[in-house]
Amino acid sequence: MLAVVYHSPNDLRVEDVPMPKIGEGELLVKVISTSICGTDLRIFHGNHRMYKPETVRIPGHEVVGTIAKVGAGVKNYTVGQRVFCAPNTGCGHCQQCMTGNNNLCANYDAIGVTSDGGFAEHAQADELQKNDHDCC
Ligand SMILES: [Zn+2]
Ligand SMILES: [Zn+2]
Repeated sequence: MLAVVYHSPNDLRVEDVPMPKIGEGELLVKVISTSICGTDLRIFHGNHRMYKPETVRIPGHEVVGTIAKVGAGVKNYTVGQRVFCAPNTGCGHCQQCMTGNNNLCANYDAIGVTSDGGFAEHAQADELQKNDHDCC
């Protein structure tokens, strides 16, 4: 699939890369659109703390698409369903997570920031956030 790949500050390349592999509890999203925001500009210019030197990654964290494939154990999504990917996941236990600021968690992850994201034809997403729990 085609993707925009960050190689170094001010060096984004359109490349043919492997399709994301989908594991248990994960989804393959066929990307319709991915927004560009200030975080992406910081990444592009080499000013994002999670893009350390030597990082090669597909940015893009504001992703809308349709489910192309569901991994084993996925319960709440079906192929063809339109989704927005909530990009940030936190530990679920710290003060920031407990107050809804999981993007400020010291142990946060985010698609397009700590893993490959949506500036691509397809993106991988988790069904559940790390801090989701069976409560209701
Ligand atoms: Zn953003
Ligand atoms: Zn946390």
